[in-house]
Amino acid sequence: MTTTVIKGDLLYEGKAKKVYATDNPDLIIQEFKDDATAFNAQKKGQIVGKGIINNDLSSHLFTYLESFGIATHFVSKLSEREMLCKRLDILKIEVVTRNIAAGSLVKRYGFTEGEALRYPIIELYLKNDALGDPLINDDHAVLLGLGTPDDIARLKQLASKINGVMQDYFLQKGLKLVDFKLEFGRHHGAILLGDEISPDTCRLWDKDTDTKLDKDRFRFDLGNVEDAYREVRKRLIG
Ligand code: UDP
Repeated sequence: MTTTVIKGDLLYEGKAKKVYATDNPDLIIQEFKDDATAFNAQKKGQIVGKGIINNDLSSHLFTYLESFGIATHFVSKLSEREMLCKRLDILKIEVVTRNIAAGSLVKRYGFTEGEALRYPIIELYLKNDALGDPLINDDHAVLLGLGTPDDIARLKQLASKINGVMQDYFLQKGLKLVDFKLEFGRHHGAILLGDEISPDTCRLWDKDTDTKLDKDRFRFDLGNVEDAYREVRKRLIG
């Protein structure tokens, strides 16, 4: 596939990325910003250089996942902040996979932070800012028209496979994959992994010290936010 494209109109501006059309109707450009939000955008700020790092990391991880036969929207990295992607009809579902208790699992169900889960769990959230992205189950997802029962099962199967691949990979790099969020979309009928995979969307802890190396440093004002993102890139890419 040719990767020479002409950047077109801004299609959508999200919290951390802008999406542009290209002269090829099947392709879009994701541009990674330094803007950071947390707690359903109640907290806003900037993490200097984050967009560049997240583009590097996402490009690297999508390529890695593709090598395990996982279909993603990634086509190529175009520049420091730009990624060429297949255009998706995004499914309005966030798929969260958890290996270790943290975040809302602790708040909602009383798990102890850092507790290893006996087996990974997968949660679905409705992508709807106005409703605060509520937790949903498979029945809600089908009833809301987000996908067929087979689609929902497929998303969970893909999340589980991606978790296995990524957990091993991060561990080799000295990082525990605590939890992460994925988004999927349809491209000419196929379900592809979309969005990004980065310290914005994954909780990553140092394997020996449990030092947090992800967006929780921004969420909870833990300091050294930029350093944490740089450290993850150094461990994964060099
Ligand atoms: N997550 C995300 N976007 C969201 C919500 C969660 O990328 O809108 C990621 C988050 O970074 C973490 C995982 O999904 O790696 C689980 O998040 P959790 O449900 O614990 O919610 P949080 O405490 O992050 O709001």
